Amino acid sequence: MMVITVKDHHDPSGIIEKIKERSASYRVTKLYGKTIIIAWPDNHVEDLIDPSIEGIYRIKKPYPLASREWRNRDTVVDVEGVEIGSNKVVIAAGPCSVESEEQMIEIARKLKKLGVSIVRGGAFKPRTSPYSFQGLGEKGLKILRRVYDEVGIPIVSEIMDPRDINMFKEHIHMLQIGARNSQNFPLLKEVGRSGKPVLLKRGFGNTVDEWLQSAEYILLEGNGSVVLCERGIRSFEHGTRFTLDIGAAVLAKKLTHLPICIDPSHPAGRRDLVAPLALAAVAAGIDMLLIEVHPNPERALSDSEQQLTIEEFSQLVERLRSVARSVGRDL
Ligand code: PEP
Ligand code: MN
Repeated sequence: MMVITVKDHHDPSGIIEKIKERSASYRVTKLYGKTIIIAWPDNHVEDLIDPSIEGIYRIKKPYPLASREWRNRDTVVDVEGVEIGSNKVVIAAGPCSVESEEQMIEIARKLKKLGVSIVRGGAFKPRTSPYSFQGLGEKGLKILRRVYDEVGIPIVSEIMDPRDINMFKEHIHMLQIGARNSQNFPLLKEVGRSGKPVLLKRGFGNTVDEWLQSAEYILLEGNGSVVLCERGIRSFEHGTRFTLDIGAAVLAKKLTHLPICIDPSHPAGRRDLVAPLALAAVAAGIDMLLIEVHPNPERALSDSEQQLTIEEFSQLVERLRSVARSVGRDL
């Protein structure tokens, strides 16, 4: 695939005419302030000359926009002033599900004091069983909005249905795509068009190549604010809930310019494994952690086994800070 960048303030129509004359396929987008044309097959367009062309790159990967072959500098994603992908490792933490306003405000205040930059909480929950707690829905999003208004900390929450996009845009600062929707292409296009920062989880049956192509759907809509999140894959091992694939997270960091997050909670599936997985993630050089913390995990309505108490989380933060320092990062 060829990535053609257009000179600033130039009209791409002359280039597009030439691409059409050569019966090549193409898509046009605007990303990181640049007009970009992706065209293929390569041999139809590789010798294209036009005064409006700034650069033309041959990309071997099936995710040209997400690839470092085109953009070899780390993208920093801004969530309400929180920078993900800079030297500081960002922590997003909070309960698996939003259960009540009191629960969320209480935990958000404590987390903020401990240096957490983003609060998590699911309002629409992707549960395996239709009989399990499905989340508070729109009411949950409104609670999250009040958390932001009262505590002043941005919010990440999972969107499952493209029809909910306006509700999320009104209340939520970062849209989470869950593992089960990692290849829900209409949803990926919708969050791409929303322009909101996206936390894209890796599907537990997806390869790194597939995961990066999911990110490509969002980038192609002109939304470059994507953070990739590894959360464990399915393997033969059932002692843990999923197998945290740190190798894949490290590989992704080499292949893409987008920031990388690790969620140690869902692969652990049990409280006592969360801290070592989180420490390993920071040692491996990731940019963000997503950790489940609940004021009273025993009584949580979802993922009760794996959520940390605030005390456990507080101890973990201290250990994370020293690991971050030892690999040249802040936390
Ligand atoms: C979650 O973050 O609560 C969640 C449902 O995660 P995943 O999509 O990774 O299972
Ligand atoms: Mn959960």
